[in-house]
Amino acid sequence: MTLDQARQALNKYFGYRHFRPMQAEIIQAVYDRRDVVVLMPTGGGKSICYQVPALTIHGTVLVVSPLISLMRDQVEALRANGIQAAFLNSSLSANEQRQVEEDLFRGRLRLLYVSPERLVSQEFLPVLKAARISLFAIDEAHCISAWGHDFRPEYGQLRFLKKQFPTVPVMALTATADKITRRDIVRQLGLRAPRIFVASFDRPNLSLEVRPGQKRREQILRFLRARPGESGIIYCQSRKATEELAATLALTGLRVDYYHAGRTTEERSRVQDAFIRDELEVVVATVAFGMGIDKSNVRWVIHYNMPQNIESYYQEIGRAGRDGAPADTLLFFSYRDVTVWKDILADSAPEIRDIRLAKLERMVQYATSAICRRKILLNYFGEQRTDNCGNCDVCLNPPSYFDGTVLAQKALSAVARLKEQVDMTTLIDVLRGAGKRYLRKRGYDRIKTFGAGRDLSFYDWRHYLEQMLQLGLVEIAYDDQNRVCLTDAAWDVLKGRRKVELVQPATLKQREQAARKHRAGAAELDHESSELFERLRQLRLEQARMRGIAPYMVFSDATLREMASARPATLADLAQVSGVGEKKLAEYGQVFLDAIHLWAKEKGIALQVRRGGQTAVRIPGPKKVDTLERTWELYCQGLSIYEIAQARNLKPDTIITHLAKLYEEGRKVDLRRFVSRSEMQRVLEVLRTLEPPWRLKEIHDALGGELDYAKIKLALAWVARKQRTG
Ligand code: ADP
Ligand code: ZN
Repeated sequence: MTLDQARQALNKYFGYRHFRPMQAEIIQAVYDRRDVVVLMPTGGGKSICYQVPALTIHGTVLVVSPLISLMRDQVEALRANGIQAAFLNSSLSANEQRQVEEDLFRGRLRLLYVSPERLVSQEFLPVLKAARISLFAIDEAHCISAWGHDFRPEYGQLRFLKKQFPTVPVMALTATADKITRRDIVRQLGLRAPRIFVASFDRPNLSLEVRPGQKRREQILRFLRARPGESGIIYCQSRKATEELAATLALTGLRVDYYHAGRTTEERSRVQDAFIRDELEVVVATVAFGMGIDKSNVRWVIHYNMPQNIESYYQEIGRAGRDGAPADTLLFFSYRDVTVWKDILADSAPEIRDIRLAKLERMVQYATSAICRRKILLNYFGEQRTDNCGNCDVCLNPPSYFDGTVLAQKALSAVARLKEQVDMTTLIDVLRGAGKRYLRKRGYDRIKTFGAGRDLSFYDWRHYLEQMLQLGLVEIAYDDQNRVCLTDAAWDVLKGRRKVELVQPATLKQREQAARKHRAGAAELDHESSELFERLRQLRLEQARMRGIAPYMVFSDATLREMASARPATLADLAQVSGVGEKKLAEYGQVFLDAIHLWAKEKGIALQVRRGGQTAVRIPGPKKVDTLERTWELYCQGLSIYEIAQARNLKPDTIITHLAKLYEEGRKVDLRRFVSRSEMQRVLEVLRTLEPPWRLKEIHDALGGELDYAKIKLALAWVARKQRTG
């Protein structure tokens, strides 16, 4: 096997022109029959690393995957690309399982996905021995490590693979980057001199933003309004919060549901399914949601609450934008969340607790930092980055510094006069001289600095105090009601011995504006292209529904975006779009091409033919096939003849002619929705008495005018197909 063959397979089956960084090296290592460990972030493109070998090496690639729902989706997506794949797990009937085993034995499968339970079972070994396995791919390999939180005991038994099949290479894949997990994987699988590939954990298409957790619902609604029809996930800490937020959002007409471990299995899989199929736009969920989801067109992720550590945060936002197209992430930060986590962690065993608290601390630093957020993230994962990313809120709202000494003195003096007894919210209320009853009740309205900072908003004060926290001027007693306390450095400032430089926070409006401008720039789709994209997205939805698959399995958002901006004029041009492989070109090519032509015609835009034809500009006229296909689609959506006619602005009679033709071609048009069996029989009888070629009027008259022309046309289609098929 050569990398050239690998590249051809990538192109033919997936429609991708190039390997992503490291994919080619990993595949080469498999060709060299080496064991490999692959560390790549979620959405980095791990599956290609074993799928391409499956397409180029003789034999079957066995994929171990811990998530049953994911297996089904992965197999469905492979089949959509014309790749023979199957899965084996407890969700199949005994018969179905036998069929899969038979297919495996006969070498009909390129890939077989199995659950770890199945793989380690006694009965399965002879099946495996009888098959020809070219590679074992262990997905989510971190589940082998008792150290992590996804530990799966069966993974611990996978060592038998190397013992029973010493010559078959093993590939272990995970998005968990830490060294302990990596060591565990190598040791427990018994890998031999494995090659270890650590890809960059950068996901440049994900924007990063952190905002103070104030008026979160309002902010979320505005965020959603700016992204109509786009899929996303909102993570909350508690089950109750998911339900409440989902209810609020539902009031605004959004298609939204909630997901947490307290719902029944059926409810959970219904929500997950609806989300994958783009029937829901928003899922409000606890962290229980997302592991089993491969949906590539999640366009945004919001954290209503802050996650416990950077690993979880990165994994959760990683579920956005797997297709590589731009996607947005937003984290709301509040000190209350920190307290909640501290309370939860207080109950864990001391040796774990300290590590977890340290990780929480890093998460807080990330959320309150004034330097490029991606830099912090990548440094956390051990990648040194010195340049600013240009796609996070800090980069988009470059800090402007000013002498904040007086401002800091006001705040610090208030802390001192309040005897370090209040939390940040109360402190800000005092500084702003808020007219709240609890302040008067506690006598805070009588201290000297009450209202000394009323010229600033709550939001601004939050920012300044966060900066003072980072500068080490104040501390928060997380173990004691989040009281704000002074440090030694604070006294230097109060006594005028030290100056304080602060960053002017951008207002929420400025931030939103900057984000919008950036999105428009990054999107690279001009107004017209995004209109076409919208249309193609709708078409994708229809096509997916007709086939009962998820829209992202038809084409990814990234592929549709490229179609919308490149506007291919011929099938050959369309084949050049990334994500359009041979199978999909054959299955969907014409329909999408027709939609692009129709749109271009409406807009009076000429499409440029690039390949497979003269390079002349061609303005397409609608073709017969278009119109038939369009009727077919609407018919498949369950529309009546009159509805189709209305939608297409055609006469019902024309639609009937279409349906008759479609039926004649062999499509599954249910004629009996329009004409009864006995009516068709009567037409057949009359035909026997008449000389061909038959004319409609003649038949109509012979029937004594009892059947209308529409019915006769349909009956004729029935007769024609009957005659042809005997
Ligand atoms: P992971 O398993 O690492 O989370 P996936 O294997 O699901 O990631 O890949 C994420 C997305 O990137 C998928 O939609 C996949 O088809 C796409 N992808 C992978 N490799 C390439 C490539 N070489 N070119 C273009 N897209 C790719
Ligand atoms: Zn940045």
